[in-house]
Formats: sequence, C-alpha cells, structure tokens
Amino acid sequence: MIPRKPKPLNDAIAPDIALTEGDHELIAAANAVLAKHYQPFWHMVAAAIRSRDGRVWTGLHIGTTVGRLSVCAEAVAFGRAVLDGDGTILTAVAVRHPKPEETDRELAVVPPCGACREMIIDHAPDATIIVKDSGVLIKLPIRTLLPLPYRR
Ligand SMILES: [Zn+2]
Repeated sequence: MIPRKPKPLNDAIAPDIALTEGDHELIAAANAVLAKHYQPFWHMVAAAIRSRDGRVWTGLHIGTTVGRLSVCAEAVAFGRAVLDGDGTILTAVAVRHPKPEETDRELAVVPPCGACREMIIDHAPDATIIVKDSGVLIKLPIRTLLPLPYRR
C-alpha cells in the first residue's frame, strides 16, 4: 500500500472558494496599508479591491468623532477604483488591526459590514469577498453574504 501524504488545507476547500495567489496578494496589500497608516480610532481597518482589469485599489477606514459619519475602508478603495480605474470589483478584502486589549497582535481578515455589503452588491453583484470562516480563509460571492439586499 502506498503511504498517503497529508492533504494541504486548501485541497479540502472547494476550488471555487479557495484563495488564489492573487487573493493572498490582495490581503498583503490591505495589510501593508494598515501597517503603515494605522491610528487607534481614526484608521483601524484597511481594504483592498482587485478590479476586473487586475489592478488593485486600497483604502483606509476614516474614523470620525460622530461615529455614524465614519467611512469604511472598502468605500475608500472603491472610490479610488471608480476615479482612477475601471470602477469594477472582482474581489475585495478588509483587514482590521487588533484592539489594544487583545492579546493576538496579528492583523485579521474581517467580513464587510452590512452597509459595505449593500454598496458592493449595488456596484458589483458578481464580486467575491475574502472572509475567514472557522479560522480558514475562503472567498464567497457577495450574494452569499447578502442574500436579500435592500431594494427601493
Ligand atoms: Zn463597511
């Protein structure tokens, strides 16, 4: 009997939700922005978007004293994609800095907030989003993350 090699983790993930090398580059781009610009309260989340033309756009969360006026990192990144690129979203990811009281000091992939899910589905209903589920990074269609979007 031929001994079997242990399966790499990604083999256990369905190919359509497994991350590509480009997806990992997208996470690295968001991490780099946050590592450079993090400021407690003011800039705690970064995002990276890959447009359909392959270009990457990064954004940073803009905190405000009036909390509801804060702008999410995904919106900033998408604004850059609209102004300077083709305005599309193939894949998006957001990462957050650990809070001061947290012992885990790693930047972490976080899912988009509800408002960003609405924004992304409005402008890119076929986009995929990198999220972490049970400790594993996967890529899901935005429609999966927002099955019943708001409609006027
Ligand atoms: Zn958001």
